[in-house]
Amino acid sequence: MVKGVLGLHHVTSISSDPQKTLDFYSKILGLRLIKLTVNYDDPSTYHVYFGDEIGHPGSVLTFFPWSGQPRGRKGTGQATNTSFSIPQESIPYWQDRLKSHSVSQEATRKRFGETVLSFEDQDGQGLELVGNNENEGRTGWTQGPVPREHAIRGFHSVTLSEEVLERTESVLVDTLGFRLVGQEENRFRYEAGKGAAGTIVDVVSRPNAQRGFVSVGTVHHVAFRAADDEHQKDLRQEIVKADLNVTPVINRNYFHSIYFRERGGVLFEVATDQPGFAIDESPEQLGTRLALPPWLEHSRAEIEKNLAPVSLPNRVVA
Ligand code: ZN
Repeated sequence: MVKGVLGLHHVTSISSDPQKTLDFYSKILGLRLIKLTVNYDDPSTYHVYFGDEIGHPGSVLTFFPWSGQPRGRKGTGQATNTSFSIPQESIPYWQDRLKSHSVSQEATRKRFGETVLSFEDQDGQGLELVGNNENEGRTGWTQGPVPREHAIRGFHSVTLSEEVLERTESVLVDTLGFRLVGQEENRFRYEAGKGAAGTIVDVVSRPNAQRGFVSVGTVHHVAFRAADDEHQKDLRQEIVKADLNVTPVINRNYFHSIYFRERGGVLFEVATDQPGFAIDESPEQLGTRLALPPWLEHSRAEIEKNLAPVSLPNRVVA
């Protein structure tokens, strides 16, 4: 039996405006901008990475800002919520913080015994903060605008909305090694690896709901962790065995990736933990300049000319 994925690696979403994206996620949510680069498949647009101090797998939320593209629609065949883990005691702090930045939020509710605070970003991206006290070893970004004790500790989970639960469940469980750990009404919870925050996928079963449309304000894909290239190779074989159409390994500079669509329609990726974000910038300097992979560096002048100028968040914001 091949070892399953270790948990969530990153989530990539689509936004409308690079500057508004930088401001929301670094200044309001207090995530660290760990990499400003371009979309390797379309170098005329940015690819922006946020995370904890060094962008540990399981903390990384990335954006393709697609200016001028239509707004997406949340629905089935989509990842409809990205949830971050915070200490349970920090829920009131975050309610106040979101309010003071005029971010509308829903009343908190309980889910699997944990407190969930739901809100959206400027493009309608579905976000949640989940009060959770299983965050040992996850510190978040401690030099941002959010006090260290309240900092986001990386992902809690991702929620997929699906028409046919079983189709997606078979991919999660039989191919990627997740296990079903709970059910509340039409929500089914799966964990990978060691379990707990950062390894959780919830599937909400909505047989009669409208299908989603992936564009601005929705999730583009969800990436899971492979320990290394060898592990990824084993997982790729499992994906092939399941008759899913998977790409060859693609070099994403900071990790190596394979992509496939799960049976409900969500684009999945399996990405390696290595080499990480410090291969082209020192840990102190992450996200302070436009980083380009070696194969695009020779076109830097032209690429920079075609990108909208952005002002990067201050390293330390009082
Ligand atoms: Zn990705």
